[in-house]
Amino acid sequence: MNFNLNKITRVNVKGLKPYSSARDEYVADGSPMVFLDANENPFENGVNRYPDPQQRRLKSVLADRKAVPVENMLLGNGSDEVLDLIYRAFCEPKVDNVITLPPTYGMYKVLAGINDIENREILLTKDFQPDVDKILKQTDANSKLLFLCSPNNPTGNSFSKEKIIGLLENFSGLVVIDEAYIDFSTEQSWAKKLEEYPNLVITQTLSKAYGLAGIRLGICIASHEIISVLNKIKPPYNVNEVTQNHALKRLQGISRIRLEITEILNQKKLVMKVLKHVAFIEKVYPSDANFILVKVDNADIRYEQLLQKGIVIRNRSNQPLCENTLRFTIGTTEENIKLVMALKEIN
Ligand SMILES: *Cc1c(COP(=O)(O)O)cnc(C)c1O
Repeated sequence: MNFNLNKITRVNVKGLKPYSSARDEYVADGSPMVFLDANENPFENGVNRYPDPQQRRLKSVLADRKAVPVENMLLGNGSDEVLDLIYRAFCEPKVDNVITLPPTYGMYKVLAGINDIENREILLTKDFQPDVDKILKQTDANSKLLFLCSPNNPTGNSFSKEKIIGLLENFSGLVVIDEAYIDFSTEQSWAKKLEEYPNLVITQTLSKAYGLAGIRLGICIASHEIISVLNKIKPPYNVNEVTQNHALKRLQGISRIRLEITEILNQKKLVMKVLKHVAFIEKVYPSDANFILVKVDNADIRYEQLLQKGIVIRNRSNQPLCENTLRFTIGTTEENIKLVMALKEIN
């Protein structure tokens, strides 16, 4: 493996020093200090002070939860921001390229466009697995990032360990494994493998299983060296005070989160059973996530019919290999019952 972080980091980023904000220099430790350093309004209202730019309290709780050292972690305004930071740190506009594997999460492509980076799309195989040989053949010295979404959105399956290892061992840029749905899966996170693979980057989010899509909190897990590069370009206050506090509160009730995940997975089993008996549904794909992809006779018509009944799902038909597919998110019991009733009425 010929991975060299220094070689793949953008030249301008290598030369940067992280912006040092007033709150970076001294963080309140409880002793009675007078803070006249950041031009804040001194009257307390809960959010009159700038947030901790390194989110120390929140990170230590998350590091504990994920069994990852704090120094291997960076937090972002959703994992979408984390993904953008990765682009901006490693991909030179108009020069470098990234590799994405459709059908997959749309944001990788959007970010490639925004950052003016060539996006090399290499379709998954028919069973929605990475085509390792084809990927490596399409790779060159300017291929900086490879995005593996596992469990994959919108297909719902996890990628095979052997294939991921094949890519980690042979791709000379960063392999970004997007684990947005890992908390719904029985598969282990790749976070345990950081020491084996210096080019491994993992992204996770509090938006899905943790039920915090509204506060925007994403996690990047990688080597300390990679995290240090990302820290140089991270906006200092990218995770706001309200988000940090709300996440801390939610994480205190971890048993409640676990209960919700169990409930969602139980509901998924039930919905899956029903979907398999709906006449216009031709195939129900296996799912390691909190959604189910199905193939139907005519996705546009079925989507419209469900909409008429007040149920909004996602039509994924415009994605390659996903002709006439619909994606259902698992809702509450009541919502799922409404979905099931609607499906039966349409049938
Ligand atoms: C939903 C989703 C995300 C979203 O992340 P945020 O943390 O909400 O920005 C990232 N990756 C995938 C694959 C997703 O489906």
